[in-house]
Amino acid sequence: MSEITAEMIERGRGVDPAFIARKKRISSRVREARERLTSSGTGHRAFDLELLRLFAQSRMTSIPALALIGLGVASMAFMWVPDTEVLVWLGLIWSCQLISFKTAKRLLELPDTHINVLFWRRRFVATEVCQGMVWAMLTVLFLDVADSNARIFVLFVLMLSAALMSLVSATVPLAVYAGLVPTTIAVLLYMHPIWQAEAWPLSLLACGAQFFFIVLAQRLYATSLSSLSFRLEKDMLIAELEQAKSNSDEARRRAEEANLAKSRFLATMSHELRTPLNAILGFSEVMKGEMFGTHGVPAYKDYSNDIHSSGQHLLMLINEILDLSRVEAGRYDLREEPVSLADVVEDCLHLMSLRAQKRDIKISEAIEVSLPRLWGDERALRQIALNLLTNAIKFTPQGGHVTLKCGWTQSGGQYLSIRDTGPGIPPHEIPIVMSSFGRGTLAQKNADEGSGLGLPIVKGLVELHGGTFNIVSELRVGTEVTVIFPAERVIDANATHPERRRPEGRSFARQAA
Ligand code: ADP
Repeated sequence: MSEITAEMIERGRGVDPAFIARKKRISSRVREARERLTSSGTGHRAFDLELLRLFAQSRMTSIPALALIGLGVASMAFMWVPDTEVLVWLGLIWSCQLISFKTAKRLLELPDTHINVLFWRRRFVATEVCQGMVWAMLTVLFLDVADSNARIFVLFVLMLSAALMSLVSATVPLAVYAGLVPTTIAVLLYMHPIWQAEAWPLSLLACGAQFFFIVLAQRLYATSLSSLSFRLEKDMLIAELEQAKSNSDEARRRAEEANLAKSRFLATMSHELRTPLNAILGFSEVMKGEMFGTHGVPAYKDYSNDIHSSGQHLLMLINEILDLSRVEAGRYDLREEPVSLADVVEDCLHLMSLRAQKRDIKISEAIEVSLPRLWGDERALRQIALNLLTNAIKFTPQGGHVTLKCGWTQSGGQYLSIRDTGPGIPPHEIPIVMSSFGRGTLAQKNADEGSGLGLPIVKGLVELHGGTFNIVSELRVGTEVTVIFPAERVIDANATHPERRRPEGRSFARQAA
């Protein structure tokens, strides 16, 4: 307890400003993610912003490739069209692409709060219209060219540009339509002079291809939407996880704070109460023994007796509370050494036999011979045996019977079992009696002395030894408590145990039968 300082307690108390700031940040992220998720694809600003950003990114990354394609087309066009016209066209296409690039870049640089979705969507639509028109202008350059190869070349370029535009602009459907309209019109007009003749299939193919690109763009748009919604869902989950973690951190901090306060209280109580108790116990003992002369009034002797026994009860209670809180806080340091469970049990039996005799309770013992020693804390084992025996004798009515068994378990561990013919504990009260300060209704009715700490301490000490605690009780039949220490605790594991009589976890009812 001495390691707990006032400073630690002060530090534990109060709200940490960094924690509050973090909590606020996480909460706003969760709110934002939820908002975005629930608004998917409904024209909500946050979602539209994501789509615009996706559009700008794909535009920026595709510009170099498109510029190269423009160059390639221009170098081919030199074969049929005068140089200056081709160069003007190339200049126009590159200018459009540059504008498109700059527009996309500008959007990506802007913070979300500064983006007007409608305005930027219109800008992108306008740049796509321009691009579509410039690609469509290729037909104007080739109007007077009669070579059928040139026609096929123009159709191919327009199809290619339409395909690229629908792929790149898929996240803003309006931009796809805006880009495709000029090229579609251009294709139809370009094919017009030869409609009557053999070019029908080609014209149909060109129109079908444009339609196909629109469907493709819509599919891509749908895919982008669902991937965006998955991403937002993931963001929300992460944010919620962080929130849950921060809540649990806070809960842990509070629990630690409460534990610290409890430890401080117990440390103070232990010191402040035990010191005057020593004086009370010492002087009352002197007085009840009339060491310095007899009392003038005989009642004083009775009072001294009462003071002494009450003091002892108080001391026991304080010690039990301290023991339990140490066990619960994981601060009960086992002083482990080789210890004989059988010897400890015999000692405790001896201590309690007088009390049993007074109440005419018969105790039968069955302790297996030559049980090897256990690796454990002798004081803890003594406390376990004493608490269980005390309970058995305390709750068994006059003339009852207590049976004590100690021996091997089937798996090579050792057990201690104490069974009585007392009133038993109703099944629904078992969790109560196993909790700190929990007492059964019967004990309360009979006003038996006790604090309700004995069983939780036994359970805690057994578990500290890696063992198991088992209580089986039947109303009006009796109670049996069994504690089992694991085989690893037995020091001489090869010791012979010819008669492993007791199956583990055997129930009282079955045994009674
Ligand atoms: P205490 O005996 O000090 O009240 P315990 O933790 O040892 O505290 O026991 C808690 C309660 O469990 C008791 O108040 C009693 O109601 C019940 N109990 C424990 N042992 C027995 C027993 N052998 N027979 C009947 N009831 C018991």
